[in-house]
Order: sequence, then C-alpha cells, then structure tokens
Amino acid sequence: MKEFGGRLAAAVLSFEDLFGQMGGLAVDLLCRLVNADPLALAERLPGAERGPHACRTLESGRPARDFDLILCTLSAEEQFARLPEYLSRCGIPTRAAQRGEHDPLVVAGGMAVRLNPRPILPFLDAWAPGDAEPTLPALLDAVREVSGRGRRLEAMASVAGLGVVDRTAGPVRCLGCAEDRPAARTLRPGEPDGGIFVVETGRGCPAGCRFCAVGWATRPPRFFSAKTICAAAGEGVRQGLRIGLVGASLALHPELVPLLEELGGERADLTAASLEPSFLATPTGQALLRRLSSSGLHTLTLAVECGSERLRRVIHKAARREQILEAAARAGETSIQHLKLYLMLGLPSEEEADLLALTEMVGDVQRAWLSPRRQRGRSGRLSVSLNPFVPKPHTPFAFEAMPRRAELKRRMMVVQDRLRRLGGVELAGLSPRLAQLQCLLNRSDESMAEVLERANGRWPPPPALLEGLYGDWEHRVTQAWPAGGPVPWSIVDTGVSKAWLEAERDRAQRAEPGPACRPGNCTACGACSESPL
Ligand code: SF4
Repeated sequence: MKEFGGRLAAAVLSFEDLFGQMGGLAVDLLCRLVNADPLALAERLPGAERGPHACRTLESGRPARDFDLILCTLSAEEQFARLPEYLSRCGIPTRAAQRGEHDPLVVAGGMAVRLNPRPILPFLDAWAPGDAEPTLPALLDAVREVSGRGRRLEAMASVAGLGVVDRTAGPVRCLGCAEDRPAARTLRPGEPDGGIFVVETGRGCPAGCRFCAVGWATRPPRFFSAKTICAAAGEGVRQGLRIGLVGASLALHPELVPLLEELGGERADLTAASLEPSFLATPTGQALLRRLSSSGLHTLTLAVECGSERLRRVIHKAARREQILEAAARAGETSIQHLKLYLMLGLPSEEEADLLALTEMVGDVQRAWLSPRRQRGRSGRLSVSLNPFVPKPHTPFAFEAMPRRAELKRRMMVVQDRLRRLGGVELAGLSPRLAQLQCLLNRSDESMAEVLERANGRWPPPPALLEGLYGDWEHRVTQAWPAGGPVPWSIVDTGVSKAWLEAERDRAQRAEPGPACRPGNCTACGACSESPL
C-alpha cells in the first residue's frame, strides 16, 4: 500500500472533458464507488491534460504512477490509441507484461471495452465490460486482501464481471447495475456554456434498432425510477440550473409522464439533446417539446437515420415518415432555433433509391420545419450529420460489410450534392476513412496493439504505419463475416444469444420487425436469463 493514509488509491482516467457529460458522469461514478469504500480513495486523472499538470491527478496533484490502480473509462474506440502513449508519459510501462511490483494495475471499462477490448488487452491488467457498480467494490476488496502483483491479479480473476489478462478463461459476462441511483453532475461549472445539471435516466435502450451498439450491448435496458431522478435533479434545481435528462431512451422511460409532471412541479428548466421522432409525434412528446422550448433549448437532434420506409424497416427504426415530418413541424412552432438530423449512409441493403429517398426526406423535413417559422417571421437552422454505417460488435449487423471507401465517398457526394441544391442545409459527419477505422478496431485482436503503440497517441494513424503492418486493411471491414464464425469480441458476453442475433439479422433481410424488448417475464434474447442461452 502506498501513502494515502494507508488506503488503496485509485486514479480514475478519462480522455474526455472531465466537466462534460460523457467523461464527467463516468468519472464521477467511478470516484463515488471507490470513495464509498472507507479503505479506498479515488482521484481524477484528466487524460487530455498537457503541460506541467499532465499525468497528475486533479485533487492532490500526485503522479499517476504513485497510485495502486489506474481505472480507465473508454467510451469510444478512437481513445484506444491514447492509452499506450499516456501510460508511457506517466512513466508506467505500456505493456502489462513489462510492469513490475511497484507499477499500478491498469483496468479499463466503458462502452468501447464492452464492444471489443482485444486491441488494447496487451496494455491492460484487467478489463470490466459491464457496469461498474456490481464489479468495482469486489475489485477493490480483491486487490486489498493480498499484496504483490501476481497474487493481486490472481485474486482479481475471481471477481465477477472482471477479465484478468492471461488468467480469465472464457468470456466475461457484462453485469448490469441493479442500483436505483442515477449519476448526476453540473457540466462545466462557471463556464459560459455550463449551467446544466445532467441526470442519468437509464442505461441501454429497448427500441431494438439493429445497428445500435448501446441498445444491444447493454441488455436488459435499465431505467432509474422517476423518484430517484427527481431527487437527483433537485440539487440542480436548487442551484437554479437547467436540468439535462440523459440516456439513450428517455422517450421510452416507463415513468416518463410522472417524471415530467414531478419535474414540472419543481419548475425545472429541462434540456435533452436527442429525441426519437416517433415519440415527438405523440401528445407526451409534444408536451415535452414545448417544455424544452420554454426552457431555452437551442438545438434539437432527431435521429432519422435513413430516408426510405423499407430501409427503416430493415434497421428496425420505429419512426414513420409522417411522424418525422410531424416532429419537425412541431419543433418549427417552438422557439428552438436549430434542428439537427442524424442520418446514416451505407446501411445493409442500401440502394440508389434509398439515397434519393434520404435527400427527399431532408427536403420534406426542411419544409415542415421552416413553414411554421416563416408564418411567425422566424428563421431557423437545419443541419445534417451524415455518417457512414459502422457494423458494431454484439448487434445483429455485426457481420455486415461496409461499402469500400471509394463507394462510400461516391454515395456521400451524391447525397451532399443534392442537399446543397436544396440550399440552407449545413452538412457535417464522420469521414468514410474514420468510420472504417472504427470498424477495423471493432474487428481487431491484440495484433492491433502494435499499431496503437507506434501511432504514439495519434488517431487516425499515419497511413504508412497501418498499411505497413496490416496491408490492405480495408478488406477486413468491407467483407461480410460468416454468421456464427469466430469473432474477436467473443471474450465479452452481453447475455444476448448468438441464435437471437442471427434471427434478428434474418428478420432484417426480410425487412420485418423484431419482437419487443420488455423486461419482466421475457427471456427472448437471453440477456434477462441468469446465464446465456
Ligand atoms: S430477454 Fe427480453 S426483455 Fe430481456 S433484454 Fe432480451 S428481449 Fe429485452
């Protein structure tokens, strides 16, 4: 044990803004869990920090290498490249195999680890693919009970929900949080765009969109109760802050109406970044929209995904065309100034007709959004985030091929040209190369560690580096993988059975809906069973 009053010391590392939504909530949660243990202590380690404070914790300024544990939360695959470079700057051997008795144990979790941790396993001592709540307290106990690196790793190997490199045999089951305690925090306090108190409403999503990693890798979906969300929000209300409700499926929260009524009673100003168009077409959705508008919401994002009804059925997207247009029209009646559409290109079975339908959809949304505004003498921004589809591990589309980069670029240009002709549409999105590299990380194993190491913190890596080690890497992401074949992410068990994913893929090919996900007595996909089907 090192000097921290004899307590086990954990540095919680994130490469995101520690005062922003994603990085802040995850780091707060890990710190809370560690600090709840009277024999342990957590401090925050800002991975983005450069200069004299780099590689030191925010609270005590102690160097990262002085801690017993580095708990690293990785929400996006691109952060994989930052890890080896950061450890090296901290004076911690990059590869776990080179670490000695006095080096910290490096443990990673977060959505990118849940999807496929294989590319970074050589840098880790252990990895936790599920929620932190059920695993972290037992991890602290295991590390504290024994001394010596080898014995600690041995003890960690028996912790449920934790994989220990070279010691854990078989897949690690993602454990879900059973606590009814949402994470909450003030975003960027004191800064001009701060003043929002965000509260987590749930984890996962029951909508069943077949491309969605969050929806499929976080099963069963879990919602915090309206009571605890309101209790958490009370802190922000007392500080006079706007309340941001965050979660992948706010619209499907089973207590949404009482939740909004309760927050209304608190006179909370609300904000929510992205909402499902089919929900906004309902009376509850429209009431929420008016509420968001009167609370000063500036930008509303609609996850439209694609243009044609056929493709929406393939991806299992609930929103119908008329609901999307209704949502845009209702938003146009409010004081919300900016409507943002999230769209994907290169989805499985996409055809030229789907590209045309996509641009027609944007044109129709533009008219629906602007028409009520013009009647009221208001202008309004419309922007489109156009992103290549990436087949994510653990989803029914995990085995699908991405189009080749040249083809993706062509489709992107077709759509962008048509959207430019509409006029007044701002365009943004992920480049085909970055999207393919994300897929490459999802489909890679430990051999990728050398690229990540030699990239020295840069992502995307220099083309010569990637091609020198991997050759025609694009081939890996533009091939459909055989269903049921070996996959690098099989070391993670989300609880969803392979048979269910294959059945969902078959339903997608027939453009059929999938069964509803309603936790209770359901055992359909396997995630609500004690052990995988
Ligand atoms: S078993 Fe049923 S309720 Fe549970 S996650 Fe699967 S589909 Fe949803």
